[in-house]
Amino acid sequence: MTGGLTGLSGLTPEDPGWQELALCAQTDPEAFFPEKGGSTREAKRVCQSCEVRQECLEYALGNDERFGIWGGLSERERRRLKRRIS
Ligand code: SF4
Repeated sequence: MTGGLTGLSGLTPEDPGWQELALCAQTDPEAFFPEKGGSTREAKRVCQSCEVRQECLEYALGNDERFGIWGGLSERERRRLKRRIS
């Protein structure tokens, strides 16, 4: 095991191949970048069924993605998670 970064799909977050399996690419991308105060429920629901959720979240955390829903978490939730694990 190398740092536990390999998700169930066998891909690593560094491997951009995971993005080809991104479920959100087949849905409305705007749902993932809602206006401030807009609903994130629909995007999070899609993430729940996405097989590369772990890779996506680790990518977002590793690249300090500030905007949008990544790996089922909102900006605020990712900030909170980052504080917990750093
Ligand atoms: S976890 Fe969500 S944001 Fe990430 S690729 Fe999957 S559907 Fe898209």
